[in-house]
Amino acid sequence: MKKDAIFVFSEDQLGYSFSDTHPFNQKRIVLTLDLLKTMHAITEEDIVPPRMATDEELLLVHEPKFVEMVKKAGKGEVGSEIGSVYGIGTEDTPIFPNMHEASAMLVGGTLTAVDEVMQNRAGYALNLGGGLHHGFQGKASGFCVYNDSSVAIRYLQKNYHARVLYIDTDAHHGDGVQWTFYDDPDVCTLSIHETGRYLFPGTGHVTERGNGKGYGTSFNFPIDAFTEDESFLTIYETAFREIVEWFKPDVILTQNGADAHFFDPLTHLYGTMEIYKEIPRIARELADEYCEGRWIAVGGGGYDIWRVVPRAWSHIWYSMKNLPAPTGPLPKEWLDRWQSESPVPLIETWEDPNPLYKPIPRKAEIDEKNAHVLDRSLHYIRSEQQPR
Ligand SMILES: [Zn+2]
Repeated sequence: MKKDAIFVFSEDQLGYSFSDTHPFNQKRIVLTLDLLKTMHAITEEDIVPPRMATDEELLLVHEPKFVEMVKKAGKGEVGSEIGSVYGIGTEDTPIFPNMHEASAMLVGGTLTAVDEVMQNRAGYALNLGGGLHHGFQGKASGFCVYNDSSVAIRYLQKNYHARVLYIDTDAHHGDGVQWTFYDDPDVCTLSIHETGRYLFPGTGHVTERGNGKGYGTSFNFPIDAFTEDESFLTIYETAFREIVEWFKPDVILTQNGADAHFFDPLTHLYGTMEIYKEIPRIARELADEYCEGRWIAVGGGGYDIWRVVPRAWSHIWYSMKNLPAPTGPLPKEWLDRWQSESPVPLIETWEDPNPLYKPIPRKAEIDEKNAHVLDRSLHYIRSEQQPR
């Protein structure tokens, strides 16, 4: 029987761990799943274990030499001197034991999600272990080794002949996915992110529009530091609606980094839980309208793993299950279970405290700049009649 939604998870996903003090911490998946279980929003039948991606699948995107180096690094056979060439062994992306297997497991999780949806066993599929959008074809970058979304998109093309729309709401530019498909007219990438002026990876300009036959299918919405909910959501919803109508994809893949929140320690955006409630609801609506419901969602960044990520990511699952967004107090059981481990007081409600921060004096200027970015980036499709 077809399930409405599936949640890809097994403890194997937790092997992707750089160190106990590294900001990228997969414990957030455990916290999210535990919150959903405590809410009785998920059952064991909803959970599907990931498989490991094969070498052949990884090589759909990644260069053989890079995969070989990741394998060697994970076995302790090479040192951090290879960092400058392959991006591993760096401060951001240190080498850890079984690095290849752990990274291939995250990719395999996204491929599992793809197969469940494309073979009609599930309506929607969620792999919170995925979303490693900075992985390049021949190089790791920004906490990301292999790029599960890039591999999944090539896999969707090869096995299902699908046209893919990739939507990235992580606070950092989705560079790895964008550059991999920069020349490809059958993959459309859309990234909303804090401007690269001061934030990693520095790319994601409005002018990055694709190349050759792929010109026009890359969209970037670099927004200002201190951007708040309303401006963020206007850009997301307007861009998503106009681009999906223009591109007419067969399937939508969303990357759900949860690091655009005010609490996030690595970025400077001022989102609240409101954006994380709305982002998946609009994705589901548009997947239903344009893609017969084919929607695959992956995780991504998110560095306040206690106060932000579990609530934010739970909203994706609630959307997939077509349940009303949860409101009011979080379950006391969950708070009691985790408060002692958390270095900060947990937020005790689904909504953020209001107000969450002091008013921003430059608000009008920021909103106006963002509106200008929106218009500039959509100008091309607004002035063109036919998709390429
Ligand atoms: Zn990020």
